[in-house]
Amino acid sequence: MSIAKLVAAHLRDIPDFPQPGVVFKDITPLLADGEAFGQTIEYLGDFVERVGAELVVGIEARGFILAAPAALQAGLGFIPLRKPGKLPGVTLRESYALEYGEAALEMHEDAIRSGTRVVVMDDVLATGGTAAAAADLLERAGAEVVGLSFLIELASLRGRVKLPGRSLDCLLTVP
Ligand code: AMP
Repeated sequence: MSIAKLVAAHLRDIPDFPQPGVVFKDITPLLADGEAFGQTIEYLGDFVERVGAELVVGIEARGFILAAPAALQAGLGFIPLRKPGKLPGVTLRESYALEYGEAALEMHEDAIRSGTRVVVMDDVLATGGTAAAAADLLERAGAEVVGLSFLIELASLRGRVKLPGRSLDCLLTVP
């Protein structure tokens, strides 16, 4: 079975979560299966190695679950991008628009040396706003974003449009 089929077989769609009209892609069945989770992390770690990253950046919260083991698989360290107010040190912040309202991501201002090659990782690429903000924040901190890696791309939301010219890898693309 291909890795995309394996992942698809371990996802669960939850309609109307967290709000009406959204079909939430629940990855917890995948995480609970050691074999499928392990193969997923191997795939993500291979991507990180292929693009020559020096650090892996995960987006809170589900991005952490994928990025930390993928970093270790590739022999690299991990950096968290967090929701506002969670990191204890001095932070840089990037705000971005949501359908209703605004969100922001923060990172420690001294987390990354200038010129470091990083991969950004998250579970789902939806509208692309979160990933675009993450890439902008990392570049502001001096990093070189050499790739963005997602488990699932929701193609109908056209998140790629917000990430022009960037190297994207989506393990599974769904309509
Ligand atoms: P976006 O900024 O619209 O690309 O949204 C991406 C962020 O929201 C990611 O951190 C995802 O974890 C989460 N997300 C958005 N849509 C979904 C969905 N349908 N199922 C699961 N997570 C989602």
